[in-house]
Amino acid sequence: MQSLLKELVEENRHWVKHGKVANYIPELGKMDPNKLGIVVVDTGGKVYRAGDYDISFTAQSMSKPLVLLLALMDNGEEIVFSKVGKEPTGDPFNSIRKLETLKPPKPLNPMINAGAIAVTSLIKGKDNEEKFERILNLFRKISKNPNLDINKDVYLSEKRTGDRNRAIAYFLKDVNIIEGDAEEILDLYFKQCSIEVTCEDIANIGMFLANQGMDMELGETLIPKYYTQIVKTFMVTCGMYDASGEFAINVGIPAKSGVSGGIMCAVPNRMGIGVIGPALDSKGNSIAGVKVLEGLSKKLMLSIF
Ligand code: GLN
Repeated sequence: MQSLLKELVEENRHWVKHGKVANYIPELGKMDPNKLGIVVVDTGGKVYRAGDYDISFTAQSMSKPLVLLLALMDNGEEIVFSKVGKEPTGDPFNSIRKLETLKPPKPLNPMINAGAIAVTSLIKGKDNEEKFERILNLFRKISKNPNLDINKDVYLSEKRTGDRNRAIAYFLKDVNIIEGDAEEILDLYFKQCSIEVTCEDIANIGMFLANQGMDMELGETLIPKYYTQIVKTFMVTCGMYDASGEFAINVGIPAKSGVSGGIMCAVPNRMGIGVIGPALDSKGNSIAGVKVLEGLSKKLMLSIF
């Protein structure tokens, strides 16, 4: 496994030249486009690392599956899916255009920004501080990294410039999908996106989902299996935005990408995978990261289909 990962990183490193680092959040624009790294964690807890696996990056959209798990635990399925749908959009992750014509006006799924903002609005807590602490604690527990924290610079950078998400949140407030203060909800959303992780952290989260919500070390179910199934299904149908169909054919693994260039994958009952490659393709997915996953999936026959 170790040498296979190394080979795949070296073989696919040239792809970084064809991608671009996201800079609509100015702070993300500072990431090095040439980096490419991967970590695999298997069911036995063995960890394999290759390339630039040790850099840290923000979770961005990879926070969406976790916050969905917490929202489901806080509210149950019925309430959550009264605010957000279960269908892929075929539109970019930050798209606004379908919101106004949807009947009812709920965002199509929790993996796009509009749906994720609606899900974030459902997190319980007496104030934003407590709500964020609950999200961070879940991240820490599932990633097995008690030191995870927010990257303040990225958080403030997005808070300053996130007007498209602001537009989405105010629209959702107008149509009663979110309740309460739109700025507070956005603040919580920007914070969850700015949690700083490494490939190993997201590989551990992937492994946890692959294990159906069971903490292997504790031998304890932390999250109902059914909720992890819901989340993994969304990862398959919507996790790579409007490239999810292509990814399902070429890789065939539940996965969630973020604009930082990370991809978090859960291969059911087999492994968790974390990839980083900040240079993105036109859909906002790590261009070299997707290629590495294609190679790995073909070599180890990881497709769930
Ligand atoms: N924070 C980012 C945004 O809302 C997350 C998007 C992403 O990772 N695709 O734009």
